[in-house]
Amino acid sequence: MMHIETLKKHFGYTSFRDGQETLINSILSGSDTLGIMPTGAGKSICFQIPGLMFSGVTLVISPLISLMKDQVNALTQSGISAAFINSSLTDGQITKALQNAARGMYKLIYIAPERLLTGDFLAFAKSVDIAMLTVDEAHCISQWGQDFRPSYTAIPEFISKLSKRPIVSAFTATATPQVKEDIVMQLKLNNPVVTISGFDRPNLYFDVKRIKGDKFSALEAFLQNRESQSGIVYCATRGNVEEVCDKLRQRGFSTSRYHAGLSDSERHENQDDFLHDRVQIMVATNAFGMGIDKSNVSFVVHYNMPMNLEGYYQEAGRAGRDGEPATCLLLYGRSDVSTAMWMIENQETEEFLKERNIKRLQEMDAYCTTSECLRGYILKYFGETPPENCEEKCINCETDFEVVDITTDVQKIISCVARMKERFGVKMILDTLRGKTNAKVTSFGLDKLSTFGISKKSSDELREVIDYLVLSDYLHKTTDKFPIIKLGQRAKEALSQNAKITMKIGKIVVTSRVAQNQMIDSTLLEKLKSVRLEIAKEQKLPAFVIFHDSTLADMCKKLPITLEGFLKVSGVGQSKAEKYGEKFLSVISEFEKAKGIFSTV
Ligand code: ADP
Repeated sequence: MMHIETLKKHFGYTSFRDGQETLINSILSGSDTLGIMPTGAGKSICFQIPGLMFSGVTLVISPLISLMKDQVNALTQSGISAAFINSSLTDGQITKALQNAARGMYKLIYIAPERLLTGDFLAFAKSVDIAMLTVDEAHCISQWGQDFRPSYTAIPEFISKLSKRPIVSAFTATATPQVKEDIVMQLKLNNPVVTISGFDRPNLYFDVKRIKGDKFSALEAFLQNRESQSGIVYCATRGNVEEVCDKLRQRGFSTSRYHAGLSDSERHENQDDFLHDRVQIMVATNAFGMGIDKSNVSFVVHYNMPMNLEGYYQEAGRAGRDGEPATCLLLYGRSDVSTAMWMIENQETEEFLKERNIKRLQEMDAYCTTSECLRGYILKYFGETPPENCEEKCINCETDFEVVDITTDVQKIISCVARMKERFGVKMILDTLRGKTNAKVTSFGLDKLSTFGISKKSSDELREVIDYLVLSDYLHKTTDKFPIIKLGQRAKEALSQNAKITMKIGKIVVTSRVAQNQMIDSTLLEKLKSVRLEIAKEQKLPAFVIFHDSTLADMCKKLPITLEGFLKVSGVGQSKAEKYGEKFLSVISEFEKAKGIFSTV
């Protein structure tokens, strides 16, 4: 069977997403393979399909117990025999699972890294034909990554103990070159095919709102008319999580919370409530997320600016995994930058790592202040070429900017920086330009400079221009604890006689987004959802493991009347069609009868 047929038969999809086919082909040709794709892009299928097609067993190493269980559930639902072995099982259950595995009952076995070198597992692994070893969340092997796990270092030793070296494939969403090189080296990948792809998520809409003052009102305004949607609100600190969660509850929103300060049982319970759609909004720190592959998350709001774009994109990427339109909103406040800077300063790491973190923070800050295409900014950051037209999938491309001539302001700022001998940060530059006589300004004699008090603009206006000048290399911002503004490569250009520098300002949203699901009959959709909920309850599984929202929506569009027609719905594979087809078809046909319409599929 070809891999495209396997895709349809088991997963119910008719085409591969960007990058998936390259990765699958590389693995099928016998190469070690490293796939770097963002969260939600569809990494799992890239090793599950080859795993199904190989004659031997595929071992999947995964760091998270909850994730293993979800993936094995999802595979079983799709008619694929799989099992997991980790500390959530008793010794007796593990022995049984290994016996079943030795008899060839499973195509894929998920395993925690801690278990690889135990006697029982090693004996099993040596006795069977292991076609492939897949390392999921492979960045956990790198000390450069954000989630280094010492247990991952057992993987190369485990491989060296096997009688035959399997194909090794590794997957991660972390794209920094250091982590990438480290994975290849630590896992001893053999001349691997490395693909970075799929960073573009066309169904996500990116929005940044600069907030002066009350962020909560902005959040509340955003949540209006989203009653039926599920979403995550990320906050920088536990205190923020508590505060935002309480306020949302007081306003009647169905909300839960998640952070490292809660007991294990509460965290578990809250997470479960969210996964099973018993609560609508999860307010959380970044401790929430790894391993959450809930598909119907319609929005991710960042209440504070994250520390870097890697983290931001990973968290924001949890929206819209089902391919439906979803929104990623970042509420940006100036104090977020100083809080993040404070956090970096207080990290117990080496100096050069702090410097790297400050650089990343500045790039994150620039994302929040740019007036260029946000999608394009992210894709360039991750080394991809952005599409020429973002098709209004970000606030900046939907905004009618005013182009203003800022040449005089720029010249004032640049000469001021030069006269201050490139020794000060933004705040001192603003005070000098605006003629503020405070102790610091006078003690450095800045009030004697010819550029003292030459601007009538407000600090916010000047700050916006300085941000822009840093972004476009007229100025340079150092990565010190208190960053200093120096002249950039293009500073001279700005001072030349015929210089003309313009900047886009003002953000007036001109279009309101129209819900893209308008064509779907909501009565039928609700009926299909309740059938799904019944099945999910029966099987004690989250509803999206049965079918994604997008699959139900496609049923409403295609209105199938036969099992054959049902199989044409995106997300319906053979096994699910056989198990659930009848139930859904009968709802559809009743609905059709009531309306007197006949389907064409
Ligand atoms: P991640 O890269 O974060 O591991 P997953 O493997 O969990 O992402 O996939 C994210 C979602 O995308 C899943 O719900 C999956 O079913 C869906 N998906 C993956 N590949 C395809 C495809 N080719 N067509 C449609 N949906 C897909």
